[in-house]
Amino acid sequence: MIIQMVNVCKEYPKQQVTALKDININVEKGEFVFLTGKSGAGKSTMISLLFREELPTNGQIVVAGRSLSRLSNKEITVFRRNVGMVFQDSRLMADKTVFENVAFAMKVIERPWAQICEEVPKVLERVGLKNREKHFPHQLSGGEQQRVAVARAIINKPLIVFADEPTGDLDPDTSRELMGLLQEINAAGTTIIMATHDKEIVNRMQRRVLVLQHGQLVDDQVGGWLL
Ligand code: ADP
Repeated sequence: MIIQMVNVCKEYPKQQVTALKDININVEKGEFVFLTGKSGAGKSTMISLLFREELPTNGQIVVAGRSLSRLSNKEITVFRRNVGMVFQDSRLMADKTVFENVAFAMKVIERPWAQICEEVPKVLERVGLKNREKHFPHQLSGGEQQRVAVARAIINKPLIVFADEPTGDLDPDTSRELMGLLQEINAAGTTIIMATHDKEIVNRMQRRVLVLQHGQLVDDQVGGWLL
């Protein structure tokens, strides 16, 4: 099991919001899991708990063998470097080239420069951006920017990639291409957890679907999004 959530609740007491209520899930290594539900259902909250940006109010979360409530600050940094994350807005550094954006993820884990120079072009080729190394983010289309974000998420060979609405700003064709890329990454063994409210994508992919409604898990099955 690569992800386990046991009786997980997340409350925001000041706003009197219960964002997640009593969530229990297990995810096996290599799965592709959609996290779906209407806006406000709790998808982003779940991703931020799994990425250890936030702590649950109650319950336990274990990701890649680590109990997330017991990590020191240093361990949190190490944990985050061992899982990939793709956001809706690619969050690339605007003043850095495509190469530098991806290389940065290797620099922070102190990989040698020779290895960076070898691996960054390889991963860029893998995501279909072979001749874009010297481009700056504003010189790329939205779909290309998301490919850079995916390259950055996978460069350190994480066991898991979390994606929060990665196709949210893309047109349908570009979304389809990005999903193809995520599918390839999953086929090579990386577990993917993707939050989306796009029913068309979920129904086309026929993968495991977790459905959230007002913070509760109301469905967990393989296939389309029926609710
Ligand atoms: P989704 O990603 O499905 O749109 P969210 O996880 O963003 O849903 O939000 C779930 C609920 O939690 C919403 O009611 C939202 O307003 C609330 N919420 C999310 N983050 C916070 C926060 N930092 N403080 C207070 N309430 C929040």
